[in-house]
Amino acid sequence: MLNKKRILVTRSSMPELEEYIEEIKDLWESHWLTNMGTKHKQLQIGLLKYLDTPNIELFTNGHLALECIIAAFALTGEVITTPFTFASTTHAIVRNGLKPVFCDINLEDFTIDADKLEELITDKTTAIIPVHVYGNICNVEKIERIANKYKLKVIYDAAHAFGVTVNGISSANFGDASIFSFHATKVFNTIEGGAVSYNNENLSRILYDIKNFGITGPETVEYVGGNAKMNEFQAAMGICNLRHIDGEIEKRKVVFNRYMLQLNNIAGIRLPKERKEVKRNYAYFPVIFDQYKLNRDQVFEKLKSEDIHVRKYFYPLTNTYDCYKDKFNVEETPIAKYISERVLTLPIYADLELCEVDRICSIILNA
Ligand SMILES: *Cc1c(COP(=O)(O)O)cnc(C)c1O
Repeated sequence: MLNKKRILVTRSSMPELEEYIEEIKDLWESHWLTNMGTKHKQLQIGLLKYLDTPNIELFTNGHLALECIIAAFALTGEVITTPFTFASTTHAIVRNGLKPVFCDINLEDFTIDADKLEELITDKTTAIIPVHVYGNICNVEKIERIANKYKLKVIYDAAHAFGVTVNGISSANFGDASIFSFHATKVFNTIEGGAVSYNNENLSRILYDIKNFGITGPETVEYVGGNAKMNEFQAAMGICNLRHIDGEIEKRKVVFNRYMLQLNNIAGIRLPKERKEVKRNYAYFPVIFDQYKLNRDQVFEKLKSEDIHVRKYFYPLTNTYDCYKDKFNVEETPIAKYISERVLTLPIYADLELCEVDRICSIILNA
């Protein structure tokens, strides 16, 4: 019983309590708690630098960041996306009154299969919303070529890709815009939070206004906006966490590499692939159980019986949700279906001890 510890799939990164208290002290002097205060500004500047991107707007969460950028582009008709994602991606499209059209994913890294995009484009298509799932960067060049040819907007759901670079280019710089999530469970958190990075600075004004009820002046309201502002306590948490982000990612890397070592070369277990040009953030450790001695659900239950709580991330697919019953045909995305039935994400966070990683692996291997 000695080393039997409850392990969850993730554990939020937090600064020392003293550091956070120091950071929020001035709020007791200013009494300015939200509505784009000094912490908000400071975090925005910090993120522009860290993500190496020309423009960034902060939001109270990643989901509303996505809803707001879709609204800012005033998209209509159909949007091509994938069902192998978190509920947020599909819901943001539907909640903007648009129709999601599901493209399958590729077997290699589970991002949108860019070779299947063109056949889904109709005269109603206005955008593509691909997902850098697990921090795996989509085929951005091919997507850009297709988007240019058909004059489509590209918004990346980069919720998993904070700090990831490809050939030194930040994940924040692909497409017309990218959204990030700073939820407690993500690599970088502001408790809850999110952002949109984008290349056209003319979007700044509308994004700012849309997250603040569409209010554009003391007596003018030009847009039907919502409320998606990041408050000062969230921003303060972000300022603290950003100071430590590189160290946290380094620690995640050690955990990631330990899994790679322990689970390497096991028949029926597929591990993440190396891509030399990509600097990862080690946000997730997805494993595909395909003709392993146990199926995915059996591994899940086995670990659960040892108080280790992993996730079937992403299962179910968004195109099979109850709320979308009879609207979509899951057989049109067979690879997404195949992967969603076989994937587990194993626990990974900065302070996960290597002996725990070893224990998780030995439960899987000795089952
Ligand atoms: C977390 C997540 C979101 C939503 O972010 P929130 O900050 O939780 O609103 C969107 N897309 C994906 C892929 C995510 O994992």
